Amino acid sequence: MNKENSLTQQAENINSIFPSQKVLMGPGPSNLHPRVLAALSKPIIGHLDPDFIGIMDDIQKMLRYAFQTENPVTFPLSAPGSAAMEGSLANLLEKGDKAIICINGVFGGRMKDMASRIGATVVTVEDEWGAEVDLEKLKKTAEQNSDAKLIAFVQAETSTGALSNAEEIAKIAKKHSMLTIMDAVTSLAGVPIFVDKWGIDVVYSGTQKCLSCVPGLAPMTFSKKAVEVIKNRKTKVQSWFLDLSLLLGYWEDDTKKGKRAYHHTAPINPLYCLHESLVLLQQEGLEKSWERHRENHLLLKAGLKKLGVKYLIEGNHGLPQLNSVIMPDGVDEALVRKKALDDFHLELGAGLGALAGKVTRIGLMGHTSQKNNVLYCLAVLEKLIKQK
Ligand SMILES: *Cc1c(COP(=O)(O)O)cnc(C)c1O
Repeated sequence: MNKENSLTQQAENINSIFPSQKVLMGPGPSNLHPRVLAALSKPIIGHLDPDFIGIMDDIQKMLRYAFQTENPVTFPLSAPGSAAMEGSLANLLEKGDKAIICINGVFGGRMKDMASRIGATVVTVEDEWGAEVDLEKLKKTAEQNSDAKLIAFVQAETSTGALSNAEEIAKIAKKHSMLTIMDAVTSLAGVPIFVDKWGIDVVYSGTQKCLSCVPGLAPMTFSKKAVEVIKNRKTKVQSWFLDLSLLLGYWEDDTKKGKRAYHHTAPINPLYCLHESLVLLQQEGLEKSWERHRENHLLLKAGLKKLGVKYLIEGNHGLPQLNSVIMPDGVDEALVRKKALDDFHLELGAGLGALAGKVTRIGLMGHTSQKNNVLYCLAVLEKLIKQK
């Protein structure tokens, strides 16, 4: 009874929350377009309601456009990007399989951890943080490990801001008849992706980065070859929730109308948001979206140069949507981020892992990638850098 009382006391004085508006220029989430936010408050319906099935069909069609693929198996996983990463590896790999994993930042490292938990033999191709995946090193590793089942890599390493050459990595994999898994969490809608043209087998993304949707969903696409490999597994996928063969009961190809069956209760309202953010993407056009991300990146870069702020990546493999920058000497980057958030409601990202304390990560993702936000960020940084 006493315990109950204390539980009541702990809970009873809590009220509704009213977070203030912030300009989100970190590594995600990005700001929501008002139409995406409004979609969240549309009336909830059942996850097998015929109206909802129509919405699912739309989402699958628009995701195929975003990924530039005809893959029937293209759907949003009801979980964040990391779950899609785990799902990609867990479905393609069985215990004892060999996987080549490219590591040039935090997320490649996460892939390695997941693949080894699955029981795969992992061979890594490691590059410095800030570098792109080294194609020559990868070629050599693939030659020396021609029995590997797949190559997994991160197209856009959010921890550093490096873009790797997905098309060339896919060519190396094909030469050795290996499958490919590409992490496109930060890249989708921010830089070009051509899943079919490049011939990548499994691609996953996230909703909270350049799609500017609420977090918690992860668009995925599987090639016919990948689906075939999964269908011919000798063992069951260890995770029930991430097992593609079960998930397909609900998300199977929208061309097979009316076949959808319960797997789990889909996050209805977040899926409304995804629908709206994909409508926005299709209305703007993929190319225009890539162009906008690039233009705003160049505007930011020119302004930062004047402030004496340098880029971690000087080559042309720097991402437009994630800028890892180095503050001028004598400027406390953690303090700059703290003041930007406290005094100006501007969120900037900290460096991760090897880059913690060394870089500040400025995100220009999705709806956040606008000229007014770039100019606001530059004005705030100018003030804070001068204050040092
Ligand atoms: C953000 C991110 C993830 C993880 O996504 P979550 O939604 O945070 O789980 C994976 N890979 C990359 C490259 C990311 O930027």
